[in-house]
Amino acid sequence: MGLIVQKFGGSSVKNAERVMNVAGIVTETYSKGNDVVVVVSAQGDTTDDLIEKAAEISSKPSAREMDMLLTSGEQISVALLAMAIESLGFPVISLLGWQAGFQTDSTYGSARIKSIKADRLRAEIGRRNIVVVAGFQGLNKYDDLTTLGRGGSDTSAVAIAAALHADRCQIFTDVEGVFTADPRKIPGAKKLQEITYDEMLELATLGAQVLNNRSVEMAKKYGIELEVLSSYKRVPGTIVKEVATMEKMLVRGVTKDTDVARLSIIGVPDIPGIAFKIFSRLAARKINVDIILQSVGRDNTKDITFTVGKANKDSAIEALRSSFTELEGKDIICDTEVAKISVVGAGMESHPGTAAKMFEALYESDINIQMISTSEIKISVLIDIADADRAVNVIHKAFIPEE
Ligand code: ADP
Ligand code: ASP
Ligand code: MG
Repeated sequence: MGLIVQKFGGSSVKNAERVMNVAGIVTETYSKGNDVVVVVSAQGDTTDDLIEKAAEISSKPSAREMDMLLTSGEQISVALLAMAIESLGFPVISLLGWQAGFQTDSTYGSARIKSIKADRLRAEIGRRNIVVVAGFQGLNKYDDLTTLGRGGSDTSAVAIAAALHADRCQIFTDVEGVFTADPRKIPGAKKLQEITYDEMLELATLGAQVLNNRSVEMAKKYGIELEVLSSYKRVPGTIVKEVATMEKMLVRGVTKDTDVARLSIIGVPDIPGIAFKIFSRLAARKINVDIILQSVGRDNTKDITFTVGKANKDSAIEALRSSFTELEGKDIICDTEVAKISVVGAGMESHPGTAAKMFEALYESDINIQMISTSEIKISVLIDIADADRAVNVIHKAFIPEE
């Protein structure tokens, strides 16, 4: 018995039958004597549909109004789930993000949670209510609605678990846990029993959609163990925690990220300070740069290539084009037909040869590597988007033996 936070994603509440299924899971947990706070996402593809609706009206809607629109998806879910729980005869109340005390900064579209004023949550739990909270949303200092970025309901759940010192935080989804690759795309993907925060953070950042990376960051910060499990099938999921048993695995997962654009500036002067100027301009626009490659200087010029998120490519080109004398007249090539494929695992820190094995798998499949970046627990390569799925497959086969 204790306080349990349970989060259900979009597909887990996509229709009346799935909402009733969730009500069944929640009330079963409550009936065992637990206090339960439930966090829900918008139903099915609602958030995508709302984004499309906005696009029908305006090609550049303001970020504030986008958040006003997108928060409505979660409002529908909390009301429907509360009705479902009510219909089973249990005490329940639904709350929007602001009612649950979510205070965020003012970055519409990807706001960060600043604090949770949890008095209302505590009061409702004190009344023995099951509390159903809208994920993905909060309120900024202007009393305007904000959203936390795509997949942000995971972060809402972890934040509540941290604020209330919950005993468990369960993230229910449409797969049985965290796998060695996307189980919908790679049939041989294996479910992991456990994974460390650091590995999960890399996987989430590098394209494994199953958990939002900010939620993992927050779970690590507050020491909240996460259990990722299926809302469809009652089987054990994956535990995300500080120290995980290694299961004799060198590589814990293979990911694909297609939200990448590669920018190359050709023939910049080979003098000190150029890289500083380029990347400080991008930083000033809050553009995150990922892999960077600089060619060896020849004839007093060099090429600088780097990757950014697709959404930032135009702003990055604009930053480089405006009042930058050294870049005047230089070609800036932008390629969005690329994908970043990564292998992640704490085991590779102490095992030489991981990179060679990954590159061999790509070579044997005749897949060309455009860029490479490494850290202690991951290796990423940039390749042609057309080769992406094949690359994940062959790399996964090379590292994760099939049973
Ligand atoms: P929810 O709506 O429950 O938040 P998401 O769609 O955000 O669910 O995340 C679950 C999806 O993540 C799965 O359906 C799966 O296709 C995808 N996924 C990608 N990589 C992985 C992985 N390594 N392990 C598990 N699922 C993954
Ligand atoms: N509904 C939001 C989204 O689709 C938040 C979430 O699902 O976590 O991104
Ligand atoms: Mg999600």
